[in-house]
Amino acid sequence: MILFPDIPLHGVKGVLLDLDNTLYAYDEVHHVAMQACTEKFIQEYPFTTPEFFQELYNKARKRVNHELHGQGASHSRLLYFQKLFENFLGYTHFEKTLQYEALYWNTFLQTMKILPKALSFLQECYQKKIPICLVTDLTAQIQHKKIIQLNIQPYIKFMVSSEEAGVEKPHPYPFLLALEKMNLAPCDVIMIGDSEKKDKLGADLCRIQFYQVQHYDKQSHH
Ligand SMILES: [Mg+2]
Repeated sequence: MILFPDIPLHGVKGVLLDLDNTLYAYDEVHHVAMQACTEKFIQEYPFTTPEFFQELYNKARKRVNHELHGQGASHSRLLYFQKLFENFLGYTHFEKTLQYEALYWNTFLQTMKILPKALSFLQECYQKKIPICLVTDLTAQIQHKKIIQLNIQPYIKFMVSSEEAGVEKPHPYPFLLALEKMNLAPCDVIMIGDSEKKDKLGADLCRIQFYQVQHYDKQSHH
């Protein structure tokens, strides 16, 4: 584990960078977004409990994660909520699926904040003219929105999402796609991320130098 300011950049021609839980603290933001969805659900179905909603959500999430394992859409909140209401109501509820997805992501985007040390790092790379390519596991549209919301688009040259790559980290392909976009070789770049299973393993498979960053001592994931 390393902190952003301590990552050596000497001789580095490009940086591959994870997004979720690397540039901002994921768990806190997810919690606030889930809170908003839980409150809406309890209002609409007053005979239920927050625990019941959480259980419904977990069940739907596990099913989607399992069925789409290794693909960007395995984290799709749209699919989570679609399945959640299918399990709860016994049919597909189109309006509620879209409403809860929008509420989740709108709350998420409004809550997320770039970690100050991560921002300093982006600025340092910018000053040193080291290009950055995000390598991130999720559907592309929401990742685009996160970049705009964090207001870091001036610092990021490229992004590879797992939706675009068709496979998720640690599969080498998203990393290779990033190298192709940057026109750089594995020995030219470093990879930075929070996850040993995804970011480190993928970088290792591609023989890319990896740095695991630490912000706080919780685990991620979507
Ligand atoms: Mg991450």
